[in-house]
Amino acid sequence: MKYNHLKHITSAFITLAIVLFAHSAWAKGKKIRVVTSTPDLAAITMAIGGEHVEVTSLARHTEDPHYVDPRPSHIVKLNKADLLVVNGLELEVGWLPGLVVQARNKNIQAGAQGYLDASSVVKLLQVPTQAIDRSQGDIHPGGNPHFTYDPRRALNIAAAVEKKLAALDPDHKKDYAKNNESFSSDLGTVIKTYEDKFAKLSSEQKQVVTYHASTIYISDWLGLKEVMQVEPKPGIAPNPKHIATVLTAMRKQNVHLIFQESFYPKKASQKLAQLAKGDLVVIPGGTNVSDGQTYIKRIKTMADAIYKAASK
Ligand SMILES: [Zn+2]
Repeated sequence: MKYNHLKHITSAFITLAIVLFAHSAWAKGKKIRVVTSTPDLAAITMAIGGEHVEVTSLARHTEDPHYVDPRPSHIVKLNKADLLVVNGLELEVGWLPGLVVQARNKNIQAGAQGYLDASSVVKLLQVPTQAIDRSQGDIHPGGNPHFTYDPRRALNIAAAVEKKLAALDPDHKKDYAKNNESFSSDLGTVIKTYEDKFAKLSSEQKQVVTYHASTIYISDWLGLKEVMQVEPKPGIAPNPKHIATVLTAMRKQNVHLIFQESFYPKKASQKLAQLAKGDLVVIPGGTNVSDGQTYIKRIKTMADAIYKAASK
């Protein structure tokens, strides 16, 4: 009796295993577990994956994506991930590779099907023509990695995410295509709206100083002219000599706007804005996905804040 019972259970298990194995990797209701390095990438992936994905961003929107504190929970998330979406171009070089090693998940290694490097699908800016000497501290040695600030480049990323999700989960291919169509159409409207708005500003109004070179893709999109950065080089803290040079340039060229992300120190920028009789605008450094913010809302918030100060 006992034996038969056991046999029954065993055969049920075998049947179940066959059913699970024979069905696609994504059984009905099972979500694709996606981990992204930054919240912008998470928000874009959520827009495309919709109900079929469960997305976690390792970096918070309040954290500088160059320097994220590795946490044990990151390793757990990476260990269980079906897909890892990274920004690439060395943005995460200081913290992500070690986490991926510790996570021991072969599906999300570089080159595996569950791996997507966003920097491979966008047109990059500030790619050096000759090798940069790392000893100088420049943290953008291969080009500028902050391209998710530009919604036009987000369209490229969305297309790559759609392709990747469709490959991992062909049963929902149509849904991913539909989601991307609607995301791209909405984002396209936003892109055009702000381009038109900023085009009406004078060339003087469009001159800006920013803290970190993260802003170059915003400026590329909205036609802003970046006169200088408060940081002498990406990743190098401002010093009095450099601040004096920035102030001279701001006064000479009539620059009245400085903008920077919330996670960078504000003291030098505040001083410069005050001395140059301008404004310091703090923009979000990423989508606030933990509060349900969408990528589109994040872009609008950022562009509105810059426009408000620039159009004064
Ligand atoms: Zn940077």
